[in-house]
Amino acid sequence: MKAVRLHRYHERPSVDEVPEPAIKGPLDVLVRIGAAGLCRTDLHIYEGQWEHLTHPQLPFTLGHENAGWVEEVGSAVSNLAAGDTVILHPHITCGLCRYCRAGNEMHCTSSRFPGVDGTDGGMANYLLTDARSVVKLDPSLQPADVAALADAGLTAYHAVKKALPLLYPGTTALIIGAGGLGHIGVQALKAMSAATVIVLDRNQAALDLVRGYGPNHTVLADDGAAQKILDLTDGQGAEVVFDFVAEQGAEALGWNLTGRGGSH
Ligand code: ZN
Repeated sequence: MKAVRLHRYHERPSVDEVPEPAIKGPLDVLVRIGAAGLCRTDLHIYEGQWEHLTHPQLPFTLGHENAGWVEEVGSAVSNLAAGDTVILHPHITCGLCRYCRAGNEMHCTSSRFPGVDGTDGGMANYLLTDARSVVKLDPSLQPADVAALADAGLTAYHAVKKALPLLYPGTTALIIGAGGLGHIGVQALKAMSAATVIVLDRNQAALDLVRGYGPNHTVLADDGAAQKILDLTDGQGAEVVFDFVAEQGAEALGWNLTGRGGSH
C-alpha cells in the first residue's frame, strides 16, 4: 500500500510503498482510511519538536486525524464489523490503567499515538488500531468531512466543555482565532452554552465562515480590535478567553481581554 512516511526531520516526507498492516491481537481493528487530516502538529513532528517527548523511531507513517471504514476485526471485537464507517480516537489506550478508568485516556500509562510517536498513522491506505479507539459513525457520514474532528474537533470541544461551568447566562466568551480549532470552538460554544460569543481573527474570510455558526459578534484583529472587544463587554473583558492561536501577540492580547476573575 502507499503511505506518507517521515524519514528525517526537516526533510520532506515521501510517499512509499509499504506492506499492509495485518491483524495480530484479538482486539485489533484494521481500518481502510477514507481521509486523514493534515494538522499543524504534523509540521511540529516534521521539525522534530516531538523528539524529546515521544522519541519516535523514524521512518514512520504520519496522520493522526483519521476516519474511514472497518476492513477487518480481531477475534474478540464484538462492536464493529467490516464496512462500518468509523472515526478514530487519536490514542490507542489500554482501558485498564488508573487514567483510562478515570476517563483521562490521553494520560494512559501505556498508550500509543499513531502518526506521532513512531506508530504508523493514517496517511496510508490502511491503519491498524484497537477496538477501543474506534468510534462507529452513521454510515451516511463521509470520512473526508469528519476526519479532522478526531483531533482538532476534540481539542476545541474539550476546551469548551471544561469551561462550561463558567459560562452561565450573561457571561461572554471570547474566541481568539477562527481557524482549524476556533471554527469548531464557536460551534461547540453555541451548542453547549448560553454565553455571548465574540470571535476575533485577523483573516476576514475566516470570520465570514464562522458567522454562519451564529457567534454574537465577529471582530477583525486590527489595531482597534482590543478596544472594540472592551466596548462589547462594558469595558470589562470576557469572562472566558479561548486562545486558539497562542503566538504572535495573541497570548498578551488574551490576558488583556480577560475580565476580573475571568479565565484564560
Ligand atoms: Zn490506560
